[in-house]
Amino acid sequence: MSRIVSPSKIVCVGRNYAEHAKELGNPMPKEPLIFLKPSSAVIGDGEPIVLPPQSQRVEHEGEIAVVIGARLKRVSEQPALAGIAGVTCANDITARDLQKSDGQWTRAKGFDTFCPVGPRVVPVKDLGDLTKLEVRCRVNGQLRQQGKASDMAFPIPLVLSYISRIMTLEPGDLVLTGTPAGIGPLVAGDVVEVEIPGVGVLRNPVVAA
Ligand code: MG
Repeated sequence: MSRIVSPSKIVCVGRNYAEHAKELGNPMPKEPLIFLKPSSAVIGDGEPIVLPPQSQRVEHEGEIAVVIGARLKRVSEQPALAGIAGVTCANDITARDLQKSDGQWTRAKGFDTFCPVGPRVVPVKDLGDLTKLEVRCRVNGQLRQQGKASDMAFPIPLVLSYISRIMTLEPGDLVLTGTPAGIGPLVAGDVVEVEIPGVGVLRNPVVAA
């Protein structure tokens, strides 16, 4: 039940897996499509995701997240990779109906509790090749999403370099690297899990407001 990160910002990549872009009817972007989630959305392993009354359709997005370990400002891919403190599991919870109706994503992605992160940060040296990472998302024990980092359109070092040319990444910042296909709704009473083998399982119950 602990929050393992307190990022100054959370930078997320949209549509980084072709199959996920396709399931929402979106074309693949030609360069990374990034957006921000507020740090106030962060909760830890075991804490509840609260469904807001403003939305009728809240969905899970299991993702591989990297925690930044060094200040990254206009860096190329190699120093970006070296600047990662570690990897953790994240869930980019999204009010899908509001994402569509608002035309931009701040409200849909920004509610309190909409960024579960955990259960721990595993250093890159303990994980080896980041392109070998996999992520799975289960709801009530049923597998809903499964993705491999090797299927990302924009690999992690490229994403970090790209972001660092826009905004300085600070130690503790969090980068969510996109969700694979299989997103779906959450309702009160569900338990959603994001697992990265070698990192752990992030488990959160879903509750009504
Ligand atoms: Mg996402």
